Amino acid sequence: MAVTRTFSIIKPDATRRNITGKVNAMIEGAGLRIVAQKRLQLTQAQAEGFYAVHSERGFFGELVAFMISGPVVVQVLEGEDAVPAYRAIMGATNPANADAGTIRKELAESIEANTVHGSDSDENAAIEIAYFFAPTEIAA
Ligand code: UDP
Repeated sequence: MAVTRTFSIIKPDATRRNITGKVNAMIEGAGLRIVAQKRLQLTQAQAEGFYAVHSERGFFGELVAFMISGPVVVQVLEGEDAVPAYRAIMGATNPANADAGTIRKELAESIEANTVHGSDSDENAAIEIAYFFAPTEIAA
């Protein structure tokens, strides 16, 4: 095991319900450290660029509209094997299929409004972190 980083977004369904602190408590409770964090309103171009891998999927337009429907909190998380550690506490994409105790099972509204994003590989984590953060904004 090694200490690595992952990229997280607390999505607009969570900022709207004022539960970003609950999400952060679950992140920190799982042993992950929030080493960078900022709240911002994504532009359409930023959201389309971030989710470009999904541009051919049927839900792309709705997903982008949802992601710009309110502020998000973008984060860098650090810990032992941070990518799989965060994926484990996020739970399945569809909260109906997520395990008890996961962020999505406990907090998410739907398969789209599912409260959090987390990188799916170390390589994508590095790309996604660089999309939103300068190295000087990350303080471990
Ligand atoms: N999504 C959606 N409808 C779907 C599948 C996914 O709206 O049928 C959204 C959902 O917000 C999800 C995001 O698209 O988190 C990215 O999908 P992915 O399959 O990468 O899921 P994740 O890695 O976030 O679990």
